[in-house]
Amino acid sequence: MSPTIEIATAVKYWQWRCYAHGRPPRYHEFESDAGVCDLCGKSGRPQVQPIVLIHWQRADEKGPLTGQDGRRYSIGCEPKREYLALSRLPQHHYAATPLLQKVTCPSCRGLPLFQQMWKALRNLVHPGMRIVDGPGCCD
Ligand SMILES: [Zn+2]
Ligand SMILES: [Zn+2]
Repeated sequence: MSPTIEIATAVKYWQWRCYAHGRPPRYHEFESDAGVCDLCGKSGRPQVQPIVLIHWQRADEKGPLTGQDGRRYSIGCEPKREYLALSRLPQHHYAATPLLQKVTCPSCRGLPLFQQMWKALRNLVHPGMRIVDGPGCCD
C-alpha cells in the first residue's frame, strides 16, 4: 500500500529559538536534538521554543508519495522520501504541505522550481504583494 500523506500534522524540531537573550529579533536561534541553548544552557518553554520545519509537498506525477486526494507527490528537498512521519514519536515527526506560503524548510524554499512557483503565485494573488514573511527567499 502506498503511504498516505498527513498534511502538516506532524512536525520535526530541528531548530530552536531561545528568548533568554532578548525580544525579537534579538533572540538566539540554534540547532540541536535536545533543544538545549548553546549560549545559556536553558531548555524548555517558555524561553526555548521549537521552530517547526515544514517541507514542500509538491505535485509530481512520478513522486513516491500518494496524497489523500489520490495524486502523486514528492518532497521538495527529499524527492526520494517514501513516507512522512514514521510514528507518533516526536523524533519521527515530519511535516509537509502543498501550500507554498506555509513551507518553512530553507532547502525546499531554495529550489528553483519553488522560487518560480512562488513568484507566479505572488503575482497571481496580487501583483507585487508579499504573501507571508518567509525566510526572504524571493527578492
Ligand atoms: Zn539561550
Ligand atoms: Zn525540505
